[in-house]
Amino acid sequence: MLTGADGRATGLRQQVRDFLAGHDPAALPRLEFLRARFDAGLAWVHYPAGLGGQGLSRSLQAAVDAEFAAAGAPDNNPARIGIGLGMAAPTILAFGTQEQKERWLRPLWTGEEVWCQLFSEPGAGSDLAGLATRAVRDGTGWRVSGQKVWTSIAHVARWGLLLARTDPDVPKHAGLTYFGLDMTQPGVEVRPLRQLTGEAEFNEVFLTDAAVADTDRLGAVGEGWRVAQATLMNERIAIGGGALPREGGMIGLAAAAWREHPEARTPGLHDRLIRLWADAEVARLAGARLRQQLAAGQPGPEGSAAKVVFARLNQDLSAFELELAGAAALAYDDWTQRRPESVSFFGRGPGYRYLRSRGNSIEGGTSEILRGIIAERVLGLPAEPRTDTKVPWKDLPR
Ligand SMILES: Cc1cc2nc3c(=O)[nH]c(=O)nc-3n(C[C@H](O)[C@H](O)[C@H](O)COP(=O)(O)OP(=O)(O)OC[C@H]3O[C@@H](n4cnc5c(N)ncnc54)[C@H](O)[C@@H]3O)c2cc1C
Repeated sequence: MLTGADGRATGLRQQVRDFLAGHDPAALPRLEFLRARFDAGLAWVHYPAGLGGQGLSRSLQAAVDAEFAAAGAPDNNPARIGIGLGMAAPTILAFGTQEQKERWLRPLWTGEEVWCQLFSEPGAGSDLAGLATRAVRDGTGWRVSGQKVWTSIAHVARWGLLLARTDPDVPKHAGLTYFGLDMTQPGVEVRPLRQLTGEAEFNEVFLTDAAVADTDRLGAVGEGWRVAQATLMNERIAIGGGALPREGGMIGLAAAAWREHPEARTPGLHDRLIRLWADAEVARLAGARLRQQLAAGQPGPEGSAAKVVFARLNQDLSAFELELAGAAALAYDDWTQRRPESVSFFGRGPGYRYLRSRGNSIEGGTSEILRGIIAERVLGLPAEPRTDTKVPWKDLPR
């Protein structure tokens, strides 16, 4: 008889088979199938019952996904809804009201509603708490005006995770409030921003008296900084802590290129590849441990390390690939200004990976900022002196 995690995984696999017996993925429309999977608690098993899950350990999800994949069932296209799954959902789960959870989580998971993140501004990136976008009371709701920038996927988003200033007269971290913003209203203008790769994956977003219902506020008024921390901690894990098989991801591409091009090998490149392979394997195992430690909702600052390592590895691996490819790598595959709906390092040439990975050490918190977080909040080193707040920095939730 199987006990513990093995027994629970076996039970879950049986649940999936029972579900499939009543919901033929080949016969049902994709969306209907996904909605039924959510309602059966087989979407994300670590979420609560009634919200797509069963309150189980996150580690059991792999067994469920594998069973659905083996049956040829459609998935929710996780690459397209990465911000929703990795950042919006855990924030809503941790800080949302029951009504918000019921309204937002199901269409988020099925992919019917895409989410984007309206945090960064032209004058506020690393210093996010200095943001200037204002939300002012308007009857029972709020009106929002300001400018956001680098907003990935805003051009297809139905909802935005909005951090706005609701009180300019208190220390900057205390004057922020967090909302879910309807991106489809007239006061929201989304303009493409072309990036180094030639694509316009992100945007600038102009908000002019955009309306937000008070029922779309996440957390208390003035509590936005604390809510934003949940989003940011989850973002770092979403970017840097993904599940991979051994030699999966970017190291797999570099190793494949090495095997395919014996003529390009040099002892120096061989040495680099071996080091990178070992680093990638250590990062993969550390990521697996991190995910096992996570309860649903609110991870701690440890995810910052996974994100720093992810960025460095991607940059080193793509540089390795480029060098191995020699002159051929200088011919970039496609400069068309597209507005992609998801980001993938696969299916493109090494030049794209080299250019796109530059952003990995900026997005989701720069590597410099994350090293500061690791130093102070993981290693317990003394904090750097800060001069920009009216209250002691130490007392502020970061
Ligand atoms: C591909 C990509 C996608 C993005 N998507 C989104 C998105 O969807 N939504 C969103 O809101 N934002 C998004 N961003 C923005 C991103 O979060 C910011 O670019 C990032 O936080 C840095 O802010 P900044 O660009 O204003 O740089 P700055 O904060 O001006 O930093 C400039 C440089 O100074 C360094 N620096 C700043 N302060 C310190 C300090 N205290 N100590 C040491 N060094 C410091 C930084 O490390 C950096 O090297 C995205 C960025 C990229 C590249």
